[in-house]
Amino acid sequence: MKQPDSVTPASRSPRSTPSNRSRCRRRSTSSRTSRSSLSFQTRLARNTSCVVLDDTIAVNIEKPKTKEEEDKLVNGFLSGLEKLMSVDDNWTFLQPFEMSMEHCAKCHTCSDACPIYEESGENELYRPVYRSEIIRRIYFKYIKKVSPAVHGDIDLNWETVARLIELSYRCNVCRRCAQTCPIGVDNALLSREIRKIASMEMGIVPKELHEDGSVLQLSRWVRPPG
Ligand code: SF4
Ligand code: SF4
Repeated sequence: MKQPDSVTPASRSPRSTPSNRSRCRRRSTSSRTSRSSLSFQTRLARNTSCVVLDDTIAVNIEKPKTKEEEDKLVNGFLSGLEKLMSVDDNWTFLQPFEMSMEHCAKCHTCSDACPIYEESGENELYRPVYRSEIIRRIYFKYIKKVSPAVHGDIDLNWETVARLIELSYRCNVCRRCAQTCPIGVDNALLSREIRKIASMEMGIVPKELHEDGSVLQLSRWVRPPG
């Protein structure tokens, strides 16, 4: 199995699934057939202002325009991760989050239970522990300051953070993985908490979900129709 030593995207594209058909926008297939010698991902990354993992985009994450903007976003991510590990800021989810961050036997039982991973043709990007392993490495190296020799190394930069956020939206948070994990790790919770950092600390959220979901529901809740 390919381990996420870096957040390098897999070369294989996922098959269209009910989940990504409804939530993700496929990029134009015409650019795929270009005669350019550059890879599809390289051409796409150069032609768009957003972060690209493969030919699917779940979150339109725009690239920062300056180094200062980039540093601010990365620091916001790290600060958000610190808050998730704090009783004051995250007392409701701290215990299961910490347990899920610190323990994984890498048995991959959860992969067999994940409908997205299965429907993608076992694309590594969709393996439940793929995204979890990235945030774990960031956590151990940059929050707990444990030697990378113990839990694996990773560089914390804008590209890593942006790809991790994109990966968190390649999960439908169904929690089938959590139900089958023999030690109770909740990979869905990790996806959800990554989204929480992106939304609350970095202002990154899929426009459609925010405007047609959260905002709409909140406005109806505040002012019930009729
Ligand atoms: S089933 Fe649980 S312990 Fe096994 S790889 Fe998945 S999260 Fe880790
Ligand atoms: S919650 Fe778990 S099983 Fe469901 S899509 Fe996400 S990783 Fe897969």
